[in-house]
Amino acid sequence: MTSQPIIIPRAEHPISRASISPNALKVLYRLHNAGFRACLVGGGVRDLLLGHEPKDFDVATDAHPEAIHKLFRNCRLIGRRFRLAHVQFGGEIIEVATFRAAQGEAEEAARSTGIQFNANGRLLRDNVYGTIEEDARRRDFTVNALYYDITNFTVLDYTGGMADLKTGLLRLIGEPEQRCREDPVRMLRAVRFAAKLGFRLHPDTEAPLLTLGRLLEEIPPARLFDEVLKLFLGGYGVETFELLRHYRLFGHLFPATERCLSRQQQHFPKTLLVRALANTDGRLAEGKSVTPAFLFGALLWEPLQDRSKQLLTAGLDEADAMQTAADEVLSAQLKHITLPRRFSLPMQEIWSLQSRLTITTGKRPLRLLAHPRFRAAYDFLLLRAEADPELASLAQWWTHFMEMDEAARKQVLEPAAKPKPRRRRSRRPRQQSSTEAG
Ligand code: ATP
Ligand code: MG
Repeated sequence: MTSQPIIIPRAEHPISRASISPNALKVLYRLHNAGFRACLVGGGVRDLLLGHEPKDFDVATDAHPEAIHKLFRNCRLIGRRFRLAHVQFGGEIIEVATFRAAQGEAEEAARSTGIQFNANGRLLRDNVYGTIEEDARRRDFTVNALYYDITNFTVLDYTGGMADLKTGLLRLIGEPEQRCREDPVRMLRAVRFAAKLGFRLHPDTEAPLLTLGRLLEEIPPARLFDEVLKLFLGGYGVETFELLRHYRLFGHLFPATERCLSRQQQHFPKTLLVRALANTDGRLAEGKSVTPAFLFGALLWEPLQDRSKQLLTAGLDEADAMQTAADEVLSAQLKHITLPRRFSLPMQEIWSLQSRLTITTGKRPLRLLAHPRFRAAYDFLLLRAEADPELASLAQWWTHFMEMDEAARKQVLEPAAKPKPRRRRSRRPRQQSSTEAG
């Protein structure tokens, strides 16, 4: 089955070449001049049509990867799931993908040519080239399947994406449950785009999200790590988090955190986590840096607290309880989502500095100031203090302390309380018991 796309002429849409990255234009034109079809597609087209600045530009073409490779010296072929070309211009990468078919009418053909599904219907490999229309139909949402054609500057719409874009509707292409089974990450993408674009989910798209969340547990942890960063470090973390919980997806990503949240819901309408996400969104809006170490530190803080309290009750001292809890919470979480050590180590430092921040006498506060993770740990304390009034005065103390010059700092520090002299145990020789002597 082939059908004609809706063609939106240049005069009827707002995309101008001036708003497209010059590098993306170079790629489009070089492909076009070599006789290939070349279109901008995906988030770039979607965002330009909405008047937003695109995060990146993706190109789709009928040129095969090898042909793309020949056209661009600055090009690498990549891809585990399918082969893509990355054309690199300094810091900017233009992703160039060959049109491919996967679903619907192409599925039968595809099965015999190498597409594999697992028992839940998840697509394990697809690398079957196809027509532009097939390429449109294997994409996730209608608003992500609009093509800007460099030949004549028209927008091509094969799936009704223009109408959905106008009404703010996020709609999976094809049969929604099947599309979520093929690739459960599409459920996370649905939530991410709904939050970012402020779109509603179409009721048919929404339905499988509420029932298929468990399929996320089959996704390789490394892919989920990438997705989690997009979910929470994309500038709309708070809305995204609330939608993930609403659709009961969050618990399949962070099960221990979900258990704490559902238990605490009555007492803590605004947890540290929501504050951390709001703070992150604010920083991103101001162009400041954010780090996965801090994000995961906040995501796992409640489970950490819970577990270390249990261990304290079981008789461990504070430091041991904290360290053991940190190890346990992290290793349980790593079964679901990868957290590379370059982030998990600083995360654990942020955690362990929390107890060192409670010491405000002696030389230790000065030493702590020089710690490479001090600033992050202090920011973390501020968030905790917002969520817990008992910490307000400690947070204030540190804020003042940081504002002081060195002399004032030395003055304000009282000498540390002298440790109580240890009582010497009298060393009586142990009496051998009768059994031992036996
Ligand atoms: P962003 O603004 O986050 O870059 P995007 O829509 O461009 O949003 P990408 O992850 O860059 O998202 O993917 C580019 C395009 O590839 C998407 O717009 C969509 O058409 C298609 N796509 C990406 N991931 C999937 C998927 N899991 N299933 C189907 N199509 C996908
Ligand atoms: Mg993109």
